[in-house]
Amino acid sequence: MVCIAVVEGDGIGREVIPVARRVLAAVRPDMEFFDVEAGYGRWERTGEACGSETIAELRSADAILFGAVTTPPDPGYRSVLLQIRHNLDLYANVRPIRGDGFDIVIVRENTEGLYSGIERIEEDRACTVRVVSRKGSERIARVACALAKEREHLTIGNKANVLKSDSFFLEICREEAARASVPCKAMYIDALCLDILLHPERYDVIVTTNMFGDILSDVAAYLVGGLGMLPSANIGTRYALFEPVHGSAPDIAGMNRANPIAAIRSAAMLLQYLGDPVHAALVEEAVGSTVAQGISTPDLGGTAGTREFGDAVLQYLETARKVNAR
Ligand code: NAD
Repeated sequence: MVCIAVVEGDGIGREVIPVARRVLAAVRPDMEFFDVEAGYGRWERTGEACGSETIAELRSADAILFGAVTTPPDPGYRSVLLQIRHNLDLYANVRPIRGDGFDIVIVRENTEGLYSGIERIEEDRACTVRVVSRKGSERIARVACALAKEREHLTIGNKANVLKSDSFFLEICREEAARASVPCKAMYIDALCLDILLHPERYDVIVTTNMFGDILSDVAAYLVGGLGMLPSANIGTRYALFEPVHGSAPDIAGMNRANPIAAIRSAAMLLQYLGDPVHAALVEEAVGSTVAQGISTPDLGGTAGTREFGDAVLQYLETARKVNAR
C-alpha cells in the first residue's frame, strides 16, 4: 500500500488538489490518501498554521501532494511551506518547464539563501541573513549535475558580481560540474530572467539559489501560458513533496476558474518519484490530449472550469484503462 499525505492548503489549493487526487486514484487504485490540514485557514481557525503533529503526519507518508498556502505579509506569521521544507529537509526544488522547442529544468536550492528564516527587525532597519553553505551548495549542485549528465548542460544562475555568497555558490557548482564532467556556464540571474524568455531553447538544466529560483520559475511560466501550468517536486534524502509552482490565488479562489494542470502534473512527478514512469507518462498524455481537444480553463483562453477540465482528464484515463483491459 502506498500512502499519500494530501495538503490542500488555502485558496485554489482546495480546488486543484482534489482534481489531482482523483487523477492519482484513477491510475493507482492501490494508493491510500489521508488529509493533513495546514495553512492560513487553519491559522485563522486554531491560531496555528502548522503544528509539530502536522510534520509528523507528513513524515509518515510515502509522498506528499501539496496545494498552496496563503502567507500574509505579517512578520509574526511563519510560512508553512518554509517550515515543511526545513523540517523535512526538502532541499531540491525541481521545476520542469517544457514547451515547443524547449525543455528546461530549474533546480532551486530550497532550504537556505534568502529564505533561511534568519531575520530580525530592529528599530530602524530589518535584516535577513542570506545563508549559502558548502553542504547546501554541494548537494543542490549534485542534483543538478546528475540531471544535466542525463541531458546536455548546466547553467548556474547567480549574482556573483555583487554577492559574495553567490561567488561561493558559483565556485562550488563549477567544482561539482567539473567532477561530474558536465559542461556548464555561469549567467547573471537578471540577464537570465530576460534571456530565458528570448531564447528558451538555449537552456537545459539551470541551478540557482533559493529566491532566484523562485523568481526565475515564475518568469519562465510565461513561456508555457502562466502559473497554472508549472508543476514542481521538493525532494530531500528521505521525504518528497509535490506541488504546483503557483500560490493560493485569492483573486480567483472559489470560482472554479483555476487551472489544475500544474497540480495534475505535480501528481505525475509524484508517480515518477515513486517509480511509476508508465502512469506518470499516461497522466501527462491525458493532460496534453485534453488541451489538444480544445478543453482549457480561462487562463489559457478556454471556458472549462477546474472540475470540468479534471472530468475530461479522468474521461481520457478511463478510456485508456478500458483499451488496455481489452
Ligand atoms: P499566485 O501564484 O497565487 O497568483 C498569481 C497570479 O496567477 C494570480 O493572478 C492568479 O489568479 C494566477 N494563478 C495562479 N495559479 C493559477 C492557476 N492554477 N490557474 C489560473 N490562474 C492562476 O501568487 P500571489 O498572488 O503572489 O500569491 C497569493 C498567495 O499565495 C500569497 O499569500 C502567497 O504568499 C501565496 N503563495 C503560496 C505559494 C505556495 O504555497 N507554494 C507560492 C506562491 C505564493
